[in-house]
Amino acid sequence: MKRPEDICSEIKKEIFKDYIPMSPEIVQTSSFYYPTYDDFIKVADDEKNHYVYTRGNNPTTEILEKKLAQLECGEKCKVFSSGMGGISSVFFTLLSRGDHILMINTVYGEAVSLVSYMEKFGITYDRIDVETTQDIEWHIKENTKLIYFESPSSQKFELLDLELISSIAKKKNIYTIIDGTWASPIFQKPLQHGIDLVIHSLSKYIGGHSDLVGGAVIGDNYLVDEIFEHGHQSLGATISPFNSWLALRGLRTLPVRMKQLDESVRIVIDAIKDDERIAKIFHPYCGDTSQKDLSKQYLSGYGSLLAIDLATQNFEKLLRFVNSLEVVSIGVSWGGFESLALPAFKGNNSEKLAERGLSPSHIRLYIGLEHPESIINDIRQALDQAFE
Ligand SMILES: *Cc1c(COP(=O)(O)O)cnc(C)c1O
Repeated sequence: MKRPEDICSEIKKEIFKDYIPMSPEIVQTSSFYYPTYDDFIKVADDEKNHYVYTRGNNPTTEILEKKLAQLECGEKCKVFSSGMGGISSVFFTLLSRGDHILMINTVYGEAVSLVSYMEKFGITYDRIDVETTQDIEWHIKENTKLIYFESPSSQKFELLDLELISSIAKKKNIYTIIDGTWASPIFQKPLQHGIDLVIHSLSKYIGGHSDLVGGAVIGDNYLVDEIFEHGHQSLGATISPFNSWLALRGLRTLPVRMKQLDESVRIVIDAIKDDERIAKIFHPYCGDTSQKDLSKQYLSGYGSLLAIDLATQNFEKLLRFVNSLEVVSIGVSWGGFESLALPAFKGNNSEKLAERGLSPSHIRLYIGLEHPESIINDIRQALDQAFE
């Protein structure tokens, strides 16, 4: 008779593989067995290429990493527990005391908070707004180690010339890092234009269903290996196998979702762009000719995140507009099924907004997968209520 303790704890013999599941397995394990100690020693010294402990590598996560590297036309990808986990790991790995970071245009707010916090480690930064990409050159310092940007930028959605940034930076041995979340790997391939690293928040389009938080960093082997060794291993922003599985599940429909969102965002913009209650729309689809040229050069489709300025400075009207929306909801994040609206003004931050060049009537809009006509009708009825 086997003892209950042994029955309950023995699992090794139950793990067999004589099937091929149609959906990838969630390898929900912290650690892995080795047949002999020799086998263990071989892998323990080269953790980046083996399964030792899920804080390093995990088979479910690795499937996701291989797919993302392929999609970005990069050599290697490391996945993290969040976009910020990826961003902080990159900064932690690549920067040393005395280094300077150049941040271009509006980037994700938490990334700015992070670099400003890193001043206590002797790292400085400048966040600059540029009219044209060439202007970057004026702001590069002797100790600039890294140029960090989004294209298009958050909030104002202005595109930059990736190849120009890369050539300016390469001359001075500066790393170039783009947060590519807006376009997803489907619509923009920054590595092919000479950018060193692409970062994604998987929480947005790649996950695609507002049910996971994750991040990814993609680039050449030597850089991603460095980031694995230091940023990923030491900071420990490890994704769970289940969240990797959710992201893989999201990936399967990413191209069809992006195709629909590209179509929907253009339909919605076309329908509202002449409405005089909207002062301005921020999105590459309605940019000036130089923005249109950059779109042609770098984007094969449009992300569906944009912003509008209402034609009023009246907070009451702004409130009435967002509170009257029914198809579009109020909430942070984006990239899922649901259309979302988020005003930049909170009733007390107009100075901060002015510093960032934003109007108090600035509202971020995420066009989701509802029928575009339903979204248009919703925006129109909310405008009617706001401006009645
Ligand atoms: C959401 C977001 C991030 C941060 O990603 P998390 O997964 O939320 O940590 C970074 N950049 C952009 C552009 C984002 O939208």
